This record gives sequence, structure tokens and C-alpha cells, in this order.
Amino acid sequence: MSLNKKSVDDFHAKGKRVLVRCDFNVPLKDGEITDETRINAALPTINKLIGDGGKVILCSHLGKVKEGPNEKESLAPVAKRLSEKLGKEVKFVADYNVTGEAATAAVDAMNEGDVVLLQNTRFRGKEETKNGEDFSKELADLCDAYVCDAFGSSHRAHASVAGVTDVVRAKGGDCAVGYLMQKEIDFLGNAVENPVRPFVAILGGAKVADKLNVISNLLEKCDTLIIGGGMAYTFLKAQGKEIGTSLVDDEKIDYCKEMMAKAESLGKKLLLPVDTTIAAAFPNPIDAGIKVEYVPSDAIPADKMGLDIGPKTAELYADAVKTAKTVVWNGPMGVFENPILAKGTIAVAESLAETDATTIIGGGDSAAAVNQLGFADKMSHISTGGGASLEFLEGKVLPGVAAADDK
Ligand code: AMP
Repeated sequence: MSLNKKSVDDFHAKGKRVLVRCDFNVPLKDGEITDETRINAALPTINKLIGDGGKVILCSHLGKVKEGPNEKESLAPVAKRLSEKLGKEVKFVADYNVTGEAATAAVDAMNEGDVVLLQNTRFRGKEETKNGEDFSKELADLCDAYVCDAFGSSHRAHASVAGVTDVVRAKGGDCAVGYLMQKEIDFLGNAVENPVRPFVAILGGAKVADKLNVISNLLEKCDTLIIGGGMAYTFLKAQGKEIGTSLVDDEKIDYCKEMMAKAESLGKKLLLPVDTTIAAAFPNPIDAGIKVEYVPSDAIPADKMGLDIGPKTAELYADAVKTAKTVVWNGPMGVFENPILAKGTIAVAESLAETDATTIIGGGDSAAAVNQLGFADKMSHISTGGGASLEFLEGKVLPGVAAADDK
């Protein structure tokens, strides 16, 4: 799918104040950034705008900001790291109000090619961040043009993602997407709308309820849908199997039956675990040593819990991946935080690493698993957005994409 939206290649940034919504929501430990993926992913767009002679004003959220503005969720460490990566000063506006006098003064002092980073947008509070017309306008007042490059936030119609574009457009400014957005949408869009077949989709993770529309939409698009993780047990129960004390969404049993019928009527393969890794209880703490057994999926004892796919299933899923030309994967196959229960997830990651197919990893846990296992450079694309990539796979139009000007 080629994106019919204006990009940073389609307007002239020279001399303009360009507000760029980035996704700098990086993990921090004791003030240190522990994973720089999102900063690295933002560099191409920022460098392009610097090169064009734009005045580059960056903004982003960081963390959940549950208890109001605080230094632990300040973007200061990002400004520092970004400066090092760009090889030039990134002027950080530390003001908790994000916009206002300090931001305006910093922007007024900018020369072409300069970079300013505003404070964490969530410091403005939930309502202002979500629906705030004032905040949208204040952000828009700082700039002449707007670029959304925050794929990980593009499923939220928030002030800095969507609201701001109404004001920028009303004053005749360009609203475009950045290179990261383009890349994400090209990979995910092609996989879903125009896949090289066979197209295998792999879904895992905790609950069916979180992935209802993804399951339904992907069944229509793919050739084989593979289900693993906690959500597989609701499917097994829907088949009338005993699942012991495994995670189950009782309210979604009928939904699972519907999906199995849908797969059959569409002639699609729906693969469920043929065996499973069981234990007496959920590990506590999550990475504690645990005694496991492997049993066929129709032989789970009533007092045992399924915590990973079994070895036969891992083989079955790996075989399905081998025949694929396009693979999309979202969600772990088991409680992968525990090394004993990570085998299914590792097996799937390995099968993706070995194939020549186009491999696309939805963000979140599956991206973390692939990174941790050292397979990142073997994948065609690892999405930077968990929720956003899921909504994309549901077939939804993301507000951050919709808000950009058409070409
Ligand atoms: P999600 O956020 O939906 O992608 O789910 C990821 C979480 O699902 C991880 O924290 C896993 O530990 C958990 N998970 C995967 N398989 C199981 C399972 N069989 N039982 C309980 N939790 C699981």
C-alpha cells in the first residue's frame, strides 16, 4: 500500500518552524535510557528537516504521568542523547507547561537547522492532552508546519497527534507524515492489503478480548492464522476441551466458535496448539523456577495451567512459517518472561529469523522478545508501535495518519 499522504519529501521546510510529533516514549532506569530504538527511529526525519534548513521543534509524551509532572518523566535525558546522536545541540525547554513563554522564547531564538525539544506533552494533564483545544492551538502557534512521526501514538486522536493539525491547516500550514510513519505503514499496509502469499499471521498474548477485531480482520486477509499464548485456551475450551486452570475468557467462547466457523467458511487454516506446557500454578515471581510437563491439548488435567505452547506445536507453527512468503506476528506464545516458559516464543522467533519471507513484528512483547533474543536484524520490520500496529491490523484508519494532508 503506498501511502497517499503528504510526507517530509513533499513540502519545503526551509526557514519554516516545523513541529514534529515524535515517539520518544523510551524506557528509563535511574534517569538512563535503557532502549534507544525509538530515538534512532526518529533520526531520519529529524535529519532530513535539519538538512532542509527547517527550524525543528520536537515534542513527545513519555510514560504514563499518573501523578502529574515530575522529573522522572521529564524528556531531559532524551534531549541529551538526541544531541549526541545528531551531533548538534538540542535545546530542551524544561517548562512543565510544555508551551508558553519559555517555549515561545526558545523557538523565537531558532536559526535554520536548529533543534528544540519541548517537555513531555502529558505534563499538560489528561484532558488537555486528549481533547484540549487550547493545547492544540498553543502547539500550532509555535509552528508553520507539522509532521507526525510518532507511529506508536498515531492511534490516539490526541492534541499533539491530531488536534494540532486542524489549527495548522487552518492557517495554511502543511501537515505531513515522517519517514518512520511512512515505513511502518508501507510494511504493515502491504502485509495486510497486498501480501505476497502464502500470508501467515501469528497471534499470541494474554487475552482474546484484546484482539477480537485483529483475529477477525486477519482471518479475512491471511491464508493461515496461528493462535498461541493465553488466548489459545479460550479457543481450546470453545472446541469442548478441558483446559484446567488456564487463562480463559469465558465471555468470548462463542466468539471463538464464530471465528473457527469463519475460518472454515473462508477456507482459511486456523492453527491451534496441539500440545501445551503445563504447570501447577502461575510462576511467582514470574521468572521463578517452575516444574513443567508437556501434554496433548486434549489432555490438560483439571488442576493444571497451560503456560506455553508445547514442542509439537512449536514444530507445527515453524513448519507453517517455512511455507510462508509474508509473516506478521503479534504477541508471545506463552509466559515468555520466564525462561522455562519462553521456549514456544523463542521457537517462533527462530522460525521467523530463518525464513526468507517478509517478516513483520507487531510492537510490544513480540518486539521485545525478538530484540532480547538477538534476532532483530533478521526481521524485515519491527514495528515501534504496539497498540498502533494492532489497530492497523484490525483494519482501522489511524487518526495520526488520517490527520496528514493528502498528496
Ligand atoms: P499481550 O499484552 O496481550 O500481548 O500479552 C502478553 C502477556 O501474555 C505476557 O505478559 C505473557 O506472560 C502473557 N501470557 C502469554 N501466555 C500466557 C498464558 N498461557 N497464561 C497466562 N499469561 C500468558
